[in-house]
Amino acid sequence: MEKNNNEHQRYIFGREWLKVFLFASLLFVMALISLRYQALPDKPVSPAVLAGFLIYALFTLAVSYRHPYFGYISLDRAGQMLMLLTLGSFHAAWISGLSYFLYSWSRLLQGMPLRNTINAVLINSGMMTLMLLLGGRWYQWWGGEIPMIRISLDSLLLAFSTLVVMQIFNQLLMYMLVYLRGGNPEKTAVLNGALLEIGIGLVGMTLALVYNRQDMPLFLLVLLVVSIGMLVMKQYASIRLHLEALVRERTCALQDLARRDSLTGISNRRHTDEFISDQIEHARQTGSALSIALLDIDHFKRINDKYLHATGDKVLQHLARVLKDHCRSSDLVGRYGGEEFLVCFPLLDLEGSRLASEKLRLLVEEQHWDSIAPGLKVTVSLGVAQWKPGMRTEDLVKTADRKLYEAKSAGRNRVCY
Ligand code: GH3
Ligand code: MG
Ligand code: MG
Repeated sequence: MEKNNNEHQRYIFGREWLKVFLFASLLFVMALISLRYQALPDKPVSPAVLAGFLIYALFTLAVSYRHPYFGYISLDRAGQMLMLLTLGSFHAAWISGLSYFLYSWSRLLQGMPLRNTINAVLINSGMMTLMLLLGGRWYQWWGGEIPMIRISLDSLLLAFSTLVVMQIFNQLLMYMLVYLRGGNPEKTAVLNGALLEIGIGLVGMTLALVYNRQDMPLFLLVLLVVSIGMLVMKQYASIRLHLEALVRERTCALQDLARRDSLTGISNRRHTDEFISDQIEHARQTGSALSIALLDIDHFKRINDKYLHATGDKVLQHLARVLKDHCRSSDLVGRYGGEEFLVCFPLLDLEGSRLASEKLRLLVEEQHWDSIAPGLKVTVSLGVAQWKPGMRTEDLVKTADRKLYEAKSAGRNRVCY
């Protein structure tokens, strides 16, 4: 079982990769040596049966899936228990190891880089081989029969405990791996995933009992039902993942929409206020400067009256674009009211923001407004304020508003600070 508890696959490189590669190689070599010196004898099995089990092991890997909450759910425990209780640990170990060795290369098709895929191949095949050899040792050490035929409390408990031992071994190695990768395992997801896999192992035990009782038609029927169940589970999970991705995407789009002014497309008042208060917090923590400018179109009512309201709208849209295009990407331009805009200048002091505001004022005056309506002229007045410790968002805006009022009173088309 390979389990990645992070929602998104994180590929590792450099030193981290090397550490995992050494760990992976160690596991793989240990698995080969353990197989070579496997002391427990298994009865000879026909190649056709071995091939059948290998195909089934590959099938269980192909239907394994990412669960919305529990991380990666491997259904291979069903095939592993079936093999362990039917063929014994040696065959179960190499078939399961081989199935992982073959299947893990499919990661390349999913876009995993070659070096990470190599690690996955070595880890998965090595870990599964060792896990099944260990499980087999445990099972036979307590006198478990292979093939398992008897259904008694003892035999069921022993099979169950074997599953738990294998799961613990698996989990420990996964924790080591997560540690080597520098990540943090998500505890509840791991526990739920482990419980689910133990449950799947019990399905494998049931399959083994039916198989070993030599009722082939019944075995094939149960196998078919279980396999269909696995496909349904995978389908259900993938629909769910798809829906959740869709909800996330739509939520982001809605959040973005909720921040924008519908006429001009720039930030609305709510988002502008949020931005300023974030910047105030930043300035408070770092001691850096912060200023804002409140900008109001001069005699906009006259523009609306002389031309049409629709022309007024075009003026607002063009002005928003001009402001946005000529401010730095770290600045924020928002529509603060009807024909009022607010520019937030992080890191600028009063003198810096005065110069920036003066530039904007000139820029607006020099626009070819008559391309919107013949004879149209637009000017703006700006009030500038710098944040001082203790000021909240509304205090800063109020200060800028007072300066704007001064600019209007002093004849408009100017910057006051
Ligand atoms: P001042 O130079 O003192 O700012 O004069 P003003 O005429 O610009 O100020 P006033 O506040 O009296 O008028 C603002 C006008 O802006 C009134 C309102 O109809 C207009 N307005 C507000 N929102 C919109 C809008 O979305 N589109 C249009 N076309 N006009 C708007
Ligand atoms: Mg106004
Ligand atoms: Mg105005």
